[in-house]
Amino acid sequence: MKVKIDPSRCVGCGLCAETLPQLFFMGPFHAKVRRRTLTSQEELLVAQIAEDCPSGALLFEEDEVPSLTRGPASDGYDESDHDEKKGEIH
Ligand code: SF4
Repeated sequence: MKVKIDPSRCVGCGLCAETLPQLFFMGPFHAKVRRRTLTSQEELLVAQIAEDCPSGALLFEEDEVPSLTRGPASDGYDESDHDEKKGEIH
């Protein structure tokens, strides 16, 4: 999971930066994110901070899920490997 801060909502209270300085710091007007990708332990802490954030400026994004889409289904059988060449005279 990833976290970001909506600068248009952040009121600069400093709560997130004081609580998790390894992830957040204060810029001149609002908090900024040092590292967006969270460990599973940090997810719980940041979820709590997001609840306590007075302006709802902490937002979460799911990590990109790798696409499971691939070419046509294959059971390992390739018909071209098994073409019978009967009757061919070279
Ligand atoms: S807790 Fe919310 S309002 Fe306070 S600095 Fe962090 S993002 Fe901004």
